[in-house]
This record gives sequence, C-alpha cells and structure tokens, in this order.
Amino acid sequence: MKFETKQIHAGHGGDHTRSVQTPVHLTTGYSFDDTEHARRLFSLEETGYIYTRLNNPTNAALEERLAALDGGIGALAATGGHAAMVMTFMNLCSAGDEIVSASGIYGGAINLMDKTLKQFGINFKFVDAGDPGAFERATTEKTRAYFVESIGNPLADVPDLEAISKIAKKQNVVFIVDNTMASPYLLRPIEHGADLVIYSTTKYMVGNGTVMGGAIVDAGSFDYLGDPRFPAYNTPDPSYKGLVYAEALGKAAFITKLRTHILRDIGACQSPFNAWITLLGMETLSLRMERHSSNALAVAEFLEAHPAIERVNYPKLKSSPYYGLAEKYLPLGAGSTFTADLKGGREAAAKFCDGLRLLKIVANLGDLRSMVNCPALTTHSQLSDGQLLGMGIVPGSVRFSIGLENIEDIIEDLEQALKGVV
Ligand SMILES: *Cc1c(COP(=O)(O)O)cnc(C)c1O
Repeated sequence: MKFETKQIHAGHGGDHTRSVQTPVHLTTGYSFDDTEHARRLFSLEETGYIYTRLNNPTNAALEERLAALDGGIGALAATGGHAAMVMTFMNLCSAGDEIVSASGIYGGAINLMDKTLKQFGINFKFVDAGDPGAFERATTEKTRAYFVESIGNPLADVPDLEAISKIAKKQNVVFIVDNTMASPYLLRPIEHGADLVIYSTTKYMVGNGTVMGGAIVDAGSFDYLGDPRFPAYNTPDPSYKGLVYAEALGKAAFITKLRTHILRDIGACQSPFNAWITLLGMETLSLRMERHSSNALAVAEFLEAHPAIERVNYPKLKSSPYYGLAEKYLPLGAGSTFTADLKGGREAAAKFCDGLRLLKIVANLGDLRSMVNCPALTTHSQLSDGQLLGMGIVPGSVRFSIGLENIEDIIEDLEQALKGVV
C-alpha cells in the first residue's frame, strides 16, 4: 500500500463490533482466562494485553500505523517526545556511556541531554551536524549512538543522513533520527540508514494542537547480539526467567526490551485517549504536510524579499546552504517550521510578534494554526548566549510554524505587522 492509504488503514484491524473508526480503549486492565494464562503472559511465553502501562489496543493501533508509515519492524508510543528520547537512551546506555548529538537541535532536548541525563552518567558530546566527519572524530569506545534531527528545530538545517549513517555503520553505533519536524510523509529516515526514529507526535502527527505524545520506531537494523558494549541485550534478565534479549528476539530485541523493561519500569506510557486523537490526526498527515510546506515556502519567499528581514533559514529557498540536501532528502517539501532574523534585533522581533493579529505567539509547532515564537526568550531560553549564537539563533530570530490558513491571509498579517518595524 502507498503512504496515503496506510495513513488511513494501517493499524486498524477491526474488532467484533465492526466499528469503522478505531475504537478508544479506555481500560487499565484486561481479564485473563485463568491463572495459567496470566502466568504465560507475564513470562512473555505468550503475547497479549496485561496492563495499560505495558500495552493497550488503541496504542497498539497507533504503534502499528507508525511502524507502517516509517517502514519499521515495530514502534512504541510514549507520553511525549522527551519521554521517547529518555527511554531510547536508557534502553541503549549504562552510566559512563556516551552519545554524540547534533548541536543544532531543540533547546529542551539539549537541556535534557547536557544537564539532566548527565546527572545519571549518560554523557553527550555535541557536534556540528553540517560536518558528518565530526561524528567520527567525537566517537570513543564508550559511544553507543549518534543523534540528529532530520530537520533541525528551529533553524531548519538538513543533515546529510546517508553520510552520517555510513559513519555510524563503520563505527558500529546506533543511528537515531528525531523526525518530528519532517514527519514520515516528507522523510523516512530508515530509508536513509537510521536505526531508530523518534517523534514528538504532539506536533505534525496530531496536527491540531490538542494532545501530547511521543513515539519510537525501530528499523530492526542494529545487531546487538554478542556485543559486549550492550550488556543488557546479552545477559540473562532475571525478571523474565533469564531471557537474553538479543538471542531470543533477534531484530526485535530493541523494541521488545523498550517495552518489557524500560516502559514497564519508567511508566511513561501514552494515554490511550491521546493515542486515539493522534490516530485521527494521522489520517490526513500527507494532505496537511503538503499544504504546510507550500504555505511555508510562500512565507519564506515573502520574508526574504522584505526590507525588515536580515535572513531567512528555510532549506527550500535557493539561497539556503541546505538547498541541495533538502532537494535530495525532502523532495515533497520541508515542513513549516523555520526562523527568520529581523534586522532590528530583539526589539524589532518583539514588536513584530506583538503586532500580529492572525498568527499567535505560542510555544508549540506543527499545529494547523500559524504561530510564531522568539526562541531566545522561550523554547531555547535554557541555553547560554554562546550556545545560541553557536546554533545560529540571534536576538532578532523569530521562529515560524506556518499553518493551513489561506496563504493570502497569512501574508497580509505578516505584512501589516512588519510595517511597524521597518
Ligand atoms: C517538541 C519536540 C520534542 C519534545 O517533544 P514533547 O512532545 O514536547 O515531549 C523533541 N524533539 C523535537 C524536534 C521537538 O520539536
């Protein structure tokens, strides 16, 4: 099946009521046939529903659809994008291990990596993703994974996924791609060598700014068997009668352990209600991403020609240093989140945002409503001025998330708000 068909049908196996729409299963527990049935489920001898912290039919429908759209062997839904990241890192690393990450990523993620996870002994090194060789130079015997965003938040830079994947394979480390900003319609990282794909489904997947969610999709491509750097995959797990994940589960070792070990213990399971809203949103993903991308390109072109604007960072502009990579990896469009820098600096950026009538100032993106944000004051405010400048965020930067309104109305609002700042 093609993408547009899968986004509607994948994961909905139907049920005894023959409901056309996937039902929302708001239940915590499931009754077992007898104590022997319960024992078999708990020891993983048989698969089935046990308790919603571990699995739920609505979440399973979402997980199946996510895996189908990205070409993975399985997926897991989490409370949000951050939970998906934390659980992924916990499923790969022990204290003392390292991950090499792109530096130009979501500010909240940098904070999570550089401060919070550091407290627990997982160490991140940050490199410029525009230089794939930097990942190799930062690799040590402690490195377990590389992490990049397929389109960087907020600067919309596009890393060369195939070049980084080649280095990951050579160094034998797991390649993780956060694909939140592109969505699987515009880019499928597994096709370019990613081992794991992470989402904040809160954004474009849900698409209407209602519920939080996150997900991990596993390509099943990384071989953990016999690798002493991944002891949790190769030593018996006493909580499942001595199961050795890499031996017993092969390609499904990561995604199974993520659920039966990490999700079981951390408990960051997605609410089935949120999973259901996300399934509804995903039915129209391709249509929305097309319009998001065409509206964003029109806005980027308008801004680039405006005298109050210093610079626009949108990879589908011919002036972008990422234009070639965007043509290769994002042939259908580059999504709708990017930054523009106002010539007048912080004051001009604030005046412009405050003058907008249709576009709202919001700390979210990927909504069908157009919104703006000043990253230096909000989403990236945890970072130092040096970190911000290193990423290319200046005081006059405004982040746009262009929605699905009529493009003439969007541009008219930008035009009137910019009048005051010229
Ligand atoms: C928002 C975001 C996250 C965090 O996701 P939540 O759903 O807010 O927890 C991670 N990565 C990127 C690229 C994001 O935009």
